[in-house]
Amino acid sequence: MIIGHLPAGYVLAKLSYRKFSGQIGHYRWYMFWGLFGAVAPDLDMFYFHLIDHRSTHHHRYFSHFPIFWLGLLSGALLLYANTRTRSRLGIYAVLFTVSGFIHLLLDSIVGDIWWLAPFIDRPFALATVPALYHPWWLNFLLHWSFGLELLLVAWAGYLWFKKPAASPVANPQAKVGNA
Ligand SMILES: [Zn+2]
Repeated sequence: MIIGHLPAGYVLAKLSYRKFSGQIGHYRWYMFWGLFGAVAPDLDMFYFHLIDHRSTHHHRYFSHFPIFWLGLLSGALLLYANTRTRSRLGIYAVLFTVSGFIHLLLDSIVGDIWWLAPFIDRPFALATVPALYHPWWLNFLLHWSFGLELLLVAWAGYLWFKKPAASPVANPQAKVGNA
């Protein structure tokens, strides 16, 4: 996936914010952790280019192992469930790790992901992009999977421009009927 990760993080954060808004109330920080999680696995590109000198597929690093992100997600859920720390920190951690895990799901559409690593050394991908054109990125742009990326961009754009729903107006007489 090339351009779909950030929009996916945006959609996730935008759609889930309402559920947690009462507990956190910091939309910008919530959105930050959703977006950061969406691209966090690809931070390994720095290691790939600067230290590893492109000698290993960066999806073979632990930062692209599902078990690593499931471990982080478990820790985040424990943090969230802990009554003493059940606060913004736990919510941000769960959002970040879910967003990171979605990154792997999206990567696995046309990019190899070692779903059973480190136990089984076998990559999985939903489809392969045939090398028909030059330069290499043209193959991805002209593949059907790029339509999915555009859909994510369109979905995020729709949510960006959509007017927020009016918040329910407090009705001072709401409890009168119970009296
Ligand atoms: Zn990736």
